[in-house]
Amino acid sequence: MHDVKPATTPIRWVRPTPKGRVPTPDARLRVTTLCEGLAPRRDLLIEHLHRLQDAEQGLRPLHLAALAERLRLTQAEVFEVASFYHHFRLLTDDEPAPIATVRVCTSLSCTMAGASRLRDELQRQVPSGVSVEEVPCIGRCHQAPAVCVGQHEQGKAQVPQVLQALAEGHTGPRPLPDAVGYADYRAQGGYRLVQDLHHGRQSAEAVMRELQASGLRGLGGAGFPSGRKWDLVRAQPAPRHLVVNIDEGEVGTFKDGHLLSSDPHRLLEGLLVATQVVGIARVWIYLRDEYHAARGLLERELQALLADPPIPAEALPLIELRRGAGAYICGEESAMIESVEGKRGLPRLRPPYVAEVGVFGRPTLAHNLETLHWIRDIVERGGAWFASHGRRGRSGLRRFSVSGRVRRPGVHLAPAGISVRELIDEYAGGMAEGHELYAYLPGGASGGILPAALAHLPLDFDGGAPPGQETLASHGCFVGSMAVVVLSQADRARDAAINLMQFFEHESCGQCTPCREGTGQAARLMAAPVWDAALMDDLSFVMREASICGLGQAAPNPMDSVRRHFPQEVSR
Ligand code: SF4
Repeated sequence: MHDVKPATTPIRWVRPTPKGRVPTPDARLRVTTLCEGLAPRRDLLIEHLHRLQDAEQGLRPLHLAALAERLRLTQAEVFEVASFYHHFRLLTDDEPAPIATVRVCTSLSCTMAGASRLRDELQRQVPSGVSVEEVPCIGRCHQAPAVCVGQHEQGKAQVPQVLQALAEGHTGPRPLPDAVGYADYRAQGGYRLVQDLHHGRQSAEAVMRELQASGLRGLGGAGFPSGRKWDLVRAQPAPRHLVVNIDEGEVGTFKDGHLLSSDPHRLLEGLLVATQVVGIARVWIYLRDEYHAARGLLERELQALLADPPIPAEALPLIELRRGAGAYICGEESAMIESVEGKRGLPRLRPPYVAEVGVFGRPTLAHNLETLHWIRDIVERGGAWFASHGRRGRSGLRRFSVSGRVRRPGVHLAPAGISVRELIDEYAGGMAEGHELYAYLPGGASGGILPAALAHLPLDFDGGAPPGQETLASHGCFVGSMAVVVLSQADRARDAAINLMQFFEHESCGQCTPCREGTGQAARLMAAPVWDAALMDDLSFVMREASICGLGQAAPNPMDSVRRHFPQEVSR
């Protein structure tokens, strides 16, 4: 028998370098220079990636390696985030970056306005080195077809104007919108409510009473009663956080961009009131990346507010502005929270709900911009004033983003419960010349498609409907973020549904199989001239029942709507 001596020193495999590429000194210097002023924090990873993308028109492996080193992350962690968001372009080390990028929106309203032809023409005519890409909705549906030339959005886009913008180098953000500035807003009584709350002239309980009386609901799509949400978060232990969702990626939705670009302080006042009433110390504003000019405006107005605050600076919450990066799923609140933390926007499994476990594990109030935008008016005019509006037994006011075949597409403020027929005739100037109502989307891509025969239905959330009333839900649809797209005899519901399903396929985060595979499978099935009803039934059932979040659960809506309301288009 051999005498085996136990090893006295454990063997350690020590790598001379970290895993992955070793950044060069040049790459380190470039990343350090471009990211100057940004704290090297993990939650700021997406902000760092934007700095690199903006400067280099793409992300190169050596720069990602240097960034991983700077943020003390693995290269895999940096890569998984960089490759998740559509606005980041991954390049090899020696691949030339495009000299400019033209993004052509091919979502529904833009496609109806000729976006495919525009894309084809641009691909033929742009100078060599310019990349022309199809993208989903960029929030300019009322000016379809829309493009982004670099960061410069163009509505009613035409080839000559795009070529001119490229030739003249107009690829930066548009000039800042003409909005109500800080001084004017203060002069009109703005921030008095914030001051009253701070000095005890107004109580948090009184604000809560008005909020409850108003019946205000979350206007980002879910429609959860706002007063109840504030109560839920107030009851949680401090520290509590607030995230403001201005990602509005739902096809056909552009109301938040409109509000932000015209009256940003009404949002900021609502935000401050929410922090005072709910007891919140930190706020993140998550803004859609396509809204470059609005971002500049918000930065400027936030600076103005902080430079001359209406209450002592130490009483203000810490407010951080976060830039989205082109992922529709980040409009889902838990995915947005992941993104705020610098990660991929993967929706979380619930429970726990974000009111209990949200940003960085703390109780979080998540609100859409428009919801907060209403707070000052509701408190000043009274909850009863807000609730006094409405038709067909509904209460409140709603902002509808209206696009498609109408004379005056745009954001229209109308009573809750209005029908699409009334919305078109009373607010959107009627149908466009030569067009008759054929179908409509009551709630963007997710809300389904309805025929003109159902143009009398009340456009509102289902909760609170008078008993026995016909609702959108009774026809398989919902109002969501109130993005109304109007189709005429020039359109087919089936083509619209295919466009929407392709959008969902593109935007699925890929986390769960029913949605990741189901959206693609549905899009392929829908391409057949005659639809396979049995297979679609199965697919729809699995997607609705087994998807983790609302994207996969609602994705079958356009397909199911066409089968239910437009069978003549998809059967023999
Ligand atoms: Fe992601 Fe779709 Fe699953 Fe939602 S349903 S988690 S978007 S794969």
